[in-house]
Parts: sequence; C-alpha cells; structure tokens
Amino acid sequence: MYVVGLTGGIASGKTTVAALIAAQGINLVDADIVAREVVAIGSDGLKQISTHFGEQILQDDGSLNRALLRDTIFSNNANKQWLNHLLHPMIRAELLAQLAASNSPYTLLVVPLLVENKLTTLCDHVLVVDVEEQVQITRTIARDNVSVQQVKAILQSQATREQRLAAADSVVVNNGRQQLTSDVAVLHQKFLELATAGMAD
Ligand code: ATP
Repeated sequence: MYVVGLTGGIASGKTTVAALIAAQGINLVDADIVAREVVAIGSDGLKQISTHFGEQILQDDGSLNRALLRDTIFSNNANKQWLNHLLHPMIRAELLAQLAASNSPYTLLVVPLLVENKLTTLCDHVLVVDVEEQVQITRTIARDNVSVQQVKAILQSQATREQRLAAADSVVVNNGRQQLTSDVAVLHQKFLELATAGMAD
C-alpha cells in the first residue's frame, strides 16, 4: 500500500487534481466523505453525539443537524474537544480501512486539513496544491458566492501556505488548467515509480 496525500487550502484545486489522478485509474480516499460517513444515520458516531448533546442535535429525519453542531462547538471549547476526541480516531480508522482495501498501484488520500490534523502520518508522500492567496479568494468567491471577509476568515482558520509547503514532498502550482494537467501527468508517473520501489519520503 503506497499512499499519496493530497492537500491544499480552500479552492486551491484539490478536487481538480484528484479528478485528473482518478482518471488514470488511481483510487481515491476522501476524508470529507469519510467524515460524513462516521456520523451517518445508524452510525455509532451519531449515536454517541445524540447521547451527549441530546436528541435536539438531530433533524426530523434523524440525521445530524450540522449547523447546530457547528454552533455548539464554536461557542464551547469543551464541546469541541469532546467531539474531536470522538471523531478523529473514528475518521482515522476508517481512512486506514479504505486505504487497506484499495488495489490501485498507489492510492490518493484527499484531505483538506491534512497538515492541521496531522494526517501526514498516514502518507508515504505528500502532494500540496499551491496557489496565491489572491487566487484562492477569487476562485472561492466565484464558486461559493461568499464575501471577501468570509473567505479571509476561512483562510485564517487553515494552515498557512508556508506551513503546508513545509510538509510537502511534491508541490503542484495551479495557475492554469492546461499546465496543471501536464504537471499532474508527470507527477502521476513519479508516484507510480515511487510506489513500485516502495519508497517513503
Ligand atoms: P475546496 O477545498 O474549497 O473544496 P478544492 O481545493 O477542491 O476546493 P477545486 O474545487 O478543485 O478546489 O477548485 C476550486 C474552484 O476553482 C473550482 O470552482 C474550480 O473549478 C476552479 N479552478 C480550479 N482550478 C482552476 C484553474 N486552474 N483555473 C481556473 N479555475 C480553477
């Protein structure tokens, strides 16, 4: 099992890069999807959350009221810690299970907060998608229809560009789609070689 971790700040181009790599027949494991799975209806995670915070944390259909949970942990550090202690080990275990079940030459582990949540330990190689902050701001506003202030607040809550780059084994700059496509093709070949050689960086 050879794991390439893919990370980058908001709107840096992770989804775009992941799609290019998936098109080469490489399996993806997506931390955002796993984070939703561990609190899906019927999950142990959701049961523990509703026991701890009360049934009012659920919506009428029994699913998690994410907005309410976000408010609950935003205003209370103890709640935030309790939730992180519950979910982080569950997410980590599920990521490991999905990685172990993957059978492509290497597996791409897509984690927006790879550096922040110290999930680099699951990776043999870390690929960072890098762009200027101004580009992140412009692309987020165009995609999500949010204000400059809202994007800046999200940027503030994430690792800095420097912190992310310090954790990188490879960097791909996403200034243009054409250049990105050819750079990712080169990186894919490099990952195949590293995986075959079984080399961790
Ligand atoms: P997030 O973590 O915020 O979900 P992401 O890192 O997965 O974002 P993408 O969704 O791949 O980033 O890209 C962000 C937005 O920027 C998308 O709307 C995408 O279409 C656009 N985009 C990505 N790459 C480029 C590019 N090279 N030129 C122009 N627009 C781009």
